[in-house]
Formats: sequence, structure tokens, C-alpha cells
Amino acid sequence: RVTTLAPHRWQMAPYACQRRTPLLHSNQPLTEALETLAEEAGFSGSEGRSLAFTRAASVLKALPGRLSTLEELGPLPGIGEHSRRVIQDVLEDGVCAEVERVKLSERYQTMKLFTKIFGVGVRTASRWYQEGLRTLVDLQERGTKLTRQQQAGLRHYDDLNTPVERGEAESISRAVQGAVQRCLPGTSVTLAGGFRRGKPHGHDVDLLLTHPEAGREAGLLSRVVSWLDSQDLILYQHSQENSYALQEGPEPPGGRDVMDRFERCFSIFRLEVQGGPGAARGWKAVRVDLVVAPISQFPFALLGWTGSRHFERELRRFASHERKMVLNSHALYDSRRNLFLPAVSEEEIFQHLGLEYVPPAQRNT
Ligand code: ATP
Ligand code: MN
Ligand code: MN
Repeated sequence: RVTTLAPHRWQMAPYACQRRTPLLHSNQPLTEALETLAEEAGFSGSEGRSLAFTRAASVLKALPGRLSTLEELGPLPGIGEHSRRVIQDVLEDGVCAEVERVKLSERYQTMKLFTKIFGVGVRTASRWYQEGLRTLVDLQERGTKLTRQQQAGLRHYDDLNTPVERGEAESISRAVQGAVQRCLPGTSVTLAGGFRRGKPHGHDVDLLLTHPEAGREAGLLSRVVSWLDSQDLILYQHSQENSYALQEGPEPPGGRDVMDRFERCFSIFRLEVQGGPGAARGWKAVRVDLVVAPISQFPFALLGWTGSRHFERELRRFASHERKMVLNSHALYDSRRNLFLPAVSEEEIFQHLGLEYVPPAQRNT
């Protein structure tokens, strides 16, 4: 008697926030190819196309094993025609011609070079490209007008594009810890961002500050930054005041990559180093984001600043489309019942959303 085995098919929940996505996965060559195309689409201002490639890559990152044929994908959610073609090429030939073409293109390479400057986004990079600029030297020689932030970014270009090691992040965290203990004892400093998700290195250090007594944290940041500055630990910084008032209600949903409104500081630290690049001068420039959250908003801030960016986007999309709720880094609002849903932990936010808790190490979408 002959039994035909159905080909093996993977199952997958549609939203990335319903899946567990570890840091290490088995489909690196495929996700790299798709993410290159996502990046390139972003450079051309095609946000929708960029998101489609990011979604496809994120599905592959959550697969429990290595994909060997396109058939195994079956009708998996979020993988469109174009992405399937790319996957097929890489599975069959090891590379995808379209991706290789992109990587070699002058536009892609220049956009990458320029957007790696702290303070330069896609729009600015694209304008410079259209004006015929191609190198960092071009920017200087043609007297391109730069903001103070971009000048700092250019000055520390090599350091800022050298990955930050976990040990360096911890050392910066300790320095900030020391500063806050002087300015407001009892303040806690939490390492968020990629490091909280278990990444061994990152492009910056994301630190969240809060104080157990509500209101005490107001005005803290400027004192901390002044003290760090007086210790020659800061090479550049610009701060923003808290502009969030809960009474206003949450932002309307749908905005992509919504900026939150915490008191915050985007900075470049001067970190003493023994080895690695910068060893000769004894220090290295490191990007640091400092964010202050009132204790009642802290779980939302922590969830929002742990990332990944795609995980956050998916959480918010899930909240709004599946639950009619608005989630941001400040609060969770239930539009059907017209009320805010408070939380004292990330776990509680997932509960409100009716989602299984996903620990930080599984948010590497
Ligand atoms: P990397 O290791 O490259 O730094 P990362 O995941 O830490 O990776 P970040 O760009 O530092 O990436 O962002 C960390 C998280 O903080 C993201 O999930 C993002 O949602 C949030 N975030 C970053 N910048 C802002 C901002 N300006 N406003 C609100 N949230 C932000
Ligand atoms: Mn980060
Ligand atoms: Mn950051």
C-alpha cells in the first residue's frame, strides 16, 4: 500500500509579536538577501515595498529549521511573490542576481555611506546623492551645509560605525548609574534596545531611567547630562523635553515608527578603552540614547525601547487591528471601552493585548 506523504509545511502566526524570534536562526543567507532589498526600497522611499521584504525576512527568522525548498513555505503569511523569487534564487544558486546588483550599485553604496552618518536620514542622503555627492570627502570639499549633529557624526564616523561591545555598553551603563546616584538617589538605569534582546553588540547604547516615586524624575536628565559633561564623558548631546500629557490621550494609530515624547538625550559618549580601535588614543566615541520615563509609564517605555523595530511595529499593528487598542511607549488605550489600561510590567501589557508573553531574547524579528 502506497502512502503519499504531504510535503512538510511550516505553520506560522501572522503577526511577528505572536511568534518567538531568537537572535540566531537557520536562514541567514535568505534573510540577508531580503533585508538588503528592504533597505534599498527604504532608500528609494518605497516604504510599503520595504515593509514587505522586512516581513518576509521576519517570517524566515522565526522558522524552527533551515528552509530547503520553496514548497515548504506553503501559504505562509507575509511572503509575497517578489520575496518568493528571491528566496528561490538563493536556495538554488546561493545568491540572488537582483540583490547582488543592488549591492554593487553606486546609489545603494552611497546611500549606505551617507545614512551611516549620525543625524543623516534617507531624505538628506538622497538629496546629496542627487546633487552629485559621492564620498565623505565630497561633503567637506563642497562645503555642504551640516547640522551640529551631522558635524559630530562626521567627526566620529569611524568610531560610530564600529560595533559597540556588550562590555562597553555595561561600562557606559555604570557611568550613568554613578551620575544618577549623585543627582537623584534611587533612580534606576535599565539597558534596553538590542542588548536587552541578547545581541552581543549594537550600534548604540539605549538606557532607560526611572524613579520609584512618581514625579521625582522631572528635570533629572539635564542634571545627569551636566554632570557627565563636567567629567568630560560627553562629546555631543542634544536633549528634548517631555512633551507628553496623558490628558491629551494617545496619538492616533497608524503613524509609522512613531517617536515618543519622553524627556530624552541623544548623545555621543567618550568611552575610555584599552584595546580595539581607538586604543592608541585611549578612548572611543559611542552613541548613547538616554530616556527618562515616569514610573507609571515605565513598562510601556521598556517594551517600546527594547525593540526590535519590526517587533514594535507589529505589536502596534496587532493592538490596533485585532484589539482596537492604541499602544505606544507611554500607554495602552482601549478605544472600545474608552479607557487606559495601566500595567506594572511588560507581562501585564501582553495580557491586556491577549498575547502570549514574548521575552526580550525572542523579539529579534
Ligand atoms: P542596535 O543594536 O542597532 O542599536 P536596536 O534594536 O537597539 O539595535 P535602536 O535604533 O537603538 O535599535 O532602537 C531600539 C528601540 O528603541 C527600537 O525598538 C525603537 O522602537 C526604539 N526607538 C529608537 N529610537 C526611537 C525614537 N526616536 N523614538 C521612539 N522610540 C525609539
Ligand atoms: Mn540600540
Ligand atoms: Mn537607540
